[in-house]
Amino acid sequence: MDAVGGKRDIKSLTLEELKKEMEEMGEKTFRAKQLYEWMHVKLARGYGEMTNIPGSLRERCEERYAYTSVRQVRLQESARDGTKKFLFELADGNTVESVWMKYKHGNSVCISSQVGCRMGCAFCASTLDGLERSLLPSEMLDQVYMITRLTGERVSNVVVMGMGEPLDNYDNLIRFLHLLTDENGLHISQRSLTVSTCGLVPQMRRLAEEGLQITLALSLHATTDEKRREMMPVARRYCLEELMEACAYYRERTGRRVTFEYSLAEGVNDSSREAEALAGLAGPLDCHVNLIPVNPVEERGFRASTGERVLAFKNKLEKNGINVTIRREMGGDIDGACGQLRRKALR
Ligand code: SAH
Repeated sequence: MDAVGGKRDIKSLTLEELKKEMEEMGEKTFRAKQLYEWMHVKLARGYGEMTNIPGSLRERCEERYAYTSVRQVRLQESARDGTKKFLFELADGNTVESVWMKYKHGNSVCISSQVGCRMGCAFCASTLDGLERSLLPSEMLDQVYMITRLTGERVSNVVVMGMGEPLDNYDNLIRFLHLLTDENGLHISQRSLTVSTCGLVPQMRRLAEEGLQITLALSLHATTDEKRREMMPVARRYCLEELMEACAYYRERTGRRVTFEYSLAEGVNDSSREAEALAGLAGPLDCHVNLIPVNPVEERGFRASTGERVLAFKNKLEKNGINVTIRREMGGDIDGACGQLRRKALR
């Protein structure tokens, strides 16, 4: 378990672990339940809010454990669709982005899993300065918790599609998923969670064996190894064949349909032939395809496919029997693309 400044991170502990800690401290175990409730249900920002915990225990906890919390440093709100993009500061001064989206079926939050990223995708802003560090389970929770507090509305879906590569922070991600779905906490349904990966094959296979009912999204973006290697350095490590096998394995082990994400860049990967090839990959695996017109990033040369080309691409997939959606372009007026708000603030 990760420590913060030499102290254990209390919000990343499971209820069982917290009970053991209380025992070791010579405290009653029901205190664990109380502390856990303050952290994961009442979403307290610190021990100070925990009114039914005796002051002496709060002080002992303060000495013994780190208590993470995030601070809102920027907020951009879309006038178009109400999407809110938050820039949160962590205890060490690093910042991460999280996005709140309102849908008919409930509120969805997109969270970051790392500060920066080391995957190096050619179209992505989050990776421009490399990886700073991975987030703790508590720091992933804090994004959901703070947004719940700030909006005053329940979050029903969480997607790990913000900054960072979640499967490059595997153990912390799994712990986060367990805490977020725990019946003693916010109790968000596993089926309402999505983890997006650039395609780290061994971790995808491991995730299939965790016994979780979450959705796995694979950022595919290309239909040949050659093209994919140009866009995503990770494709040099794992070829399409291995990736497709890992998706099939995920499907088989979990019974969950895998999603392919495909960002459309004009003249790069948006031809009709590529739509056919994508259908050829998605069809046998019964994958859902999510099309995203690429978000232009200043430092990157990619341009979004025109609306017309996106529609033609979608139609082609549908004609081939593929289940496809176009990602609603939420917050397009507020630096929607990953990592852009943080970069702006850094400058
Ligand atoms: N590292 C994970 C999750 C973070 S990125 C992954 O690669 O899946 C979330 C999604 O946004 C990925 O599909 C990613 O490829 C895509 N993405 C990143 N930058 C983008 C941009 N400028 N335009 C469109 N999609 C982008």
